[in-house]
Amino acid sequence: MADYDLHSHTNHSDGTLTPQALVEKAVEMKVKQLAITDHDTTSALADAELHAQQFPDLTIVKGIELSCRWNKQDVHIVGLGIDPDSPVLIECIEQQQQARVLRAKKISEKLEKQGYPGAFDYAQDIAHAPTQITRPHFAQFLVEQKAVKTIPQAFKKYLGQGKLAYVSTEWLSVEEAIQVIANSGGLSVLAHPSHYSMTRTKLSRLLKDFASAGGDAMEVITSNQTSDVSQWLANKSLELNLKASQGSDFHGAKMPWAKLGRIPSMPKNCAPIWESDRWPASPISSCD
Ligand code: AMP
Ligand code: MN
Ligand code: MN
Ligand code: MN
Repeated sequence: MADYDLHSHTNHSDGTLTPQALVEKAVEMKVKQLAITDHDTTSALADAELHAQQFPDLTIVKGIELSCRWNKQDVHIVGLGIDPDSPVLIECIEQQQQARVLRAKKISEKLEKQGYPGAFDYAQDIAHAPTQITRPHFAQFLVEQKAVKTIPQAFKKYLGQGKLAYVSTEWLSVEEAIQVIANSGGLSVLAHPSHYSMTRTKLSRLLKDFASAGGDAMEVITSNQTSDVSQWLANKSLELNLKASQGSDFHGAKMPWAKLGRIPSMPKNCAPIWESDRWPASPISSCD
C-alpha cells in the first residue's frame, strides 16, 4: 500500500466515484496523501476537501490533469498543489472545456458516419457537466450500442489516436500547461510517460522538452508498468533533474487495472516530489 497516491479521478471527469466516495476509498486503502487530478477541471476538489475533514489521517492534494498537444500527440500534465481560484487556471480550464465540447461534437459526427447516431447526447447525459465529456463516455456509448464489447476495444477501434472516430484537438502546449500550473502555485508533473505510444527515443525527447520548459517532475510509478520501465524512468528523472511522482491513475471499477493506493514503491534512487520545498502538504510522520 502506498502512502502517496498522486493521480486519481472522480465522476467530475471520467472516473466513476463521487468526490466523497473517492475520499472514503482512499481512507479504506490507507492512502495518506491523495491528489485528485480530474481532466481539465477542479470542480471535485471542494467537496472532496470538505469530506476529508472527517478523516485526520488523509490529506487531499489539490490537482488537475491538463490535456496537452506535443508533436501531434496528446500528452497529459498533472498539476499538484494548484490553487483552484487562480484566474489564470480558471481561464485555461474554460478554454480546455470549449475544446472538449467542440471535439465531442466532431467525435459524435464521426460515430454517426459509422452508423452510431446520438453519441453526443448520450455522452452529455452521463457526463458530470456538459463541458466535461471525455472519450470514456463515448466508449461507454459504443459498448451500450454493442459496437464493441469493452472500453479498451472502443479505444482500439474508434477513439484512440488515428482510429475511426479520433479527432485531433488544439489542447494547450506543454510550455503553456507548465506556465499555467506554475502561475497557480502548483508543481507540474508529466503524467504516465510509459503509457504513450512512443518509441523510447521519442519519449526521451518529450521528457527533455518537458524539463527544458521548466517542468518539475515526472511520474516514475503508474499502474500497469513493469519494474524495468520504472527503473528506466527513475534514471531519466535523475538525468533530467526532475522530481519523481507516483500515482495509480485510479478511475473506479470500469477501469479495473488501476487500483487506488496499490502501486509499487518508487526506485530508491529517485527524488520524491513530496520532498520538494514547494510540496503543499506536511510530511507524513514515520511513526504513524
Ligand atoms: P480524454 O481526456 O477525453 O481524451 O480521455 C482520455 C481518457 O481516456 C484517459 O484519461 C483514460 O482514462 C481513457 N483512455 C485512454 N486510452 C484508453 C484505452 N486504450 N483504454 C481505456 N481507456 C483509455
Ligand atoms: Mn482518464
Ligand atoms: Mn492521463
Ligand atoms: Mn489520469
